[in-house]
Amino acid sequence: MDNKENNIKFNPDVIDIKSMYFDELSKYLEEKGLPLFRAKQLFGWMHEKFTGSVDDMTNLPKSMRELINDEGFMTVSEETRQVSKKDGTIKFLFKLYDGQMVETVFMRYSYGNSICISSQAGCRMGCEFCASTIGGLIRNLSASEMLEQVYAAMRLTGERISNIVIMGTGEPLDNYDNVLRFIRIITDERGYNLSMRNITMSTCGIVPRIYDLAKEKLSITLAISLHAPNDEKRRKLMPIAKKYSISEILDACKNYFELTGRRISFEYSLVKGENDSREDALELSKLLKGINSHVNLIPVNSIEERDFKKGDDKSIQNFKLVLEKNSINVTIRKSVGSDIDAACGQLRRKYSVNV
Ligand code: SAH
Repeated sequence: MDNKENNIKFNPDVIDIKSMYFDELSKYLEEKGLPLFRAKQLFGWMHEKFTGSVDDMTNLPKSMRELINDEGFMTVSEETRQVSKKDGTIKFLFKLYDGQMVETVFMRYSYGNSICISSQAGCRMGCEFCASTIGGLIRNLSASEMLEQVYAAMRLTGERISNIVIMGTGEPLDNYDNVLRFIRIITDERGYNLSMRNITMSTCGIVPRIYDLAKEKLSITLAISLHAPNDEKRRKLMPIAKKYSISEILDACKNYFELTGRRISFEYSLVKGENDSREDALELSKLLKGINSHVNLIPVNSIEERDFKKGDDKSIQNFKLVLEKNSINVTIRKSVGSDIDAACGQLRRKYSVNV
């Protein structure tokens, strides 16, 4: 284990070097009198080798290392972790420079390792069944704090990551600029060079931002947290549904598909007695008919603070069957780490004051 992880030196008033695009970094170093090859070296140390400590960047001159340390080299430190005995899933709780905590989940699948990162400390979307939103939004995460969740997980496990889902705490489209910066840096061929296709961003459906995202023409997968087959039911679960209707979301999704060619994923958390009846499944089928999409059914994770329960396996299977009969692509999300399945946001709540 790299115990340098525990020593975060970051001053928010200075420049955040790790959040810079390559061109910005080159320009910045050029202004400090450093040649282009230094930018290439530093970008490589940060984003290709995901080095956690400036002292390890051995081929950089000492004065340059001091400059980077002074200017703000963002890292995160591991506060605690939970490890699944069943499948090795690791839930990290990372501490940020200002003491905020974020959850990051590292999952091993047959096709490679996947990581679920947080995009905000807290969330202001207020979804009824979600633990991450209970204390409201504390602050946005910077691109470097999102990158560091990925890099620190790789440093700490010694394993590479091939898939990223932006599905942890926070609403990514409520932190649009930083999330896009994160995506562009982690896919930069001079850095980690991850394929855009291996990134999924999940949103509760902030319609204008979905149009903006489509215009960026990134080939990431967009996942929409739908959770209900009509507006009335959706409004009961998700306050954002009072602002944007399902039909407005679906129009934005069609536009996203037209501009990017990427099939949309819909997430549907099944809550017993709320949205999991046969009628709900039929209504959902009708709603999604003809849309190039995939539905992920997620049995809701109960959280202490709310009274939502998941249905039994049979009702979940029946829901899936109705969709299948109506030619909707559907899977039940494979549950990993079920022995550490405290719902998203619960670990963070346990360790933080006032959230
Ligand atoms: N804000 C984004 C991403 C974070 S939540 C969004 O809304 O999509 C990631 C997914 O987990 C969302 O689909 C969310 O609705 C779902 N989720 C949150 N709490 C849950 C719980 N207790 N059980 C099941 N799914 C949950």
